[in-house]
Amino acid sequence: MMNQVAALIFDVDGTLAETEEAHRYAFNRAFSEAGLNWTWNQETYRKLLKVSGGKERILAFAPDASPELVAGLHNRKNQIYTKMVDSGQVSFRPGVESLISSARAQGLKLAVATTATRANVETLLGARKAFFHTIACAEDVRRKKPDPEVYALVLKRLDLPADKCLVLEDSVNGVTAATTIGLKVVVTPSLYTKGQDFSAAAAVLKDLSGITLAKLIELKG
Ligand SMILES: [Mg+2]
Repeated sequence: MMNQVAALIFDVDGTLAETEEAHRYAFNRAFSEAGLNWTWNQETYRKLLKVSGGKERILAFAPDASPELVAGLHNRKNQIYTKMVDSGQVSFRPGVESLISSARAQGLKLAVATTATRANVETLLGARKAFFHTIACAEDVRRKKPDPEVYALVLKRLDLPADKCLVLEDSVNGVTAATTIGLKVVVTPSLYTKGQDFSAAAAVLKDLSGITLAKLIELKG
């Protein structure tokens, strides 16, 4: 029933768009520009994605790196990534745009709950930013997913209880963060999260293509 859901809350990386390959490319470019012979292939990046946050990921790979080096690399990586998004090299996943349109048409609130930086999220959303009631990012919380802090913050800003919202996620970290505070989650696994344990999710879909808003809400159960 439509009135059971008043808001959709979206994760960003891997959920709105397959951003991780662009992030990986940007990390590698930043490393090579800094004269480092570090290269993250897909296998390495898959392991590093278990760590939330770009700076944290660099440190997981190079624990002896100075805070200045890590900050510099992360900064440059974000510049490269932003340029890629701005030039249209990262598009939304199938069905996402259509779901956002339907949700707006039906008067649902839209929100973002992510561990990405505000700059990265706003670049990816572009003009669509105006559609979102609230955007909670890395800067807004102390603890990243799988901690539920970012989802708790979104609920507070939406002024809605967990059972009036539906979350879209692509990773087990995200599912854990949301379900810990009673949110229902529909998962669309992405390139790097396929095969993770989504048993806590309400449903797992290949992507959102052909899924109506009514069907999605039905999956919430
Ligand atoms: Mg994600």
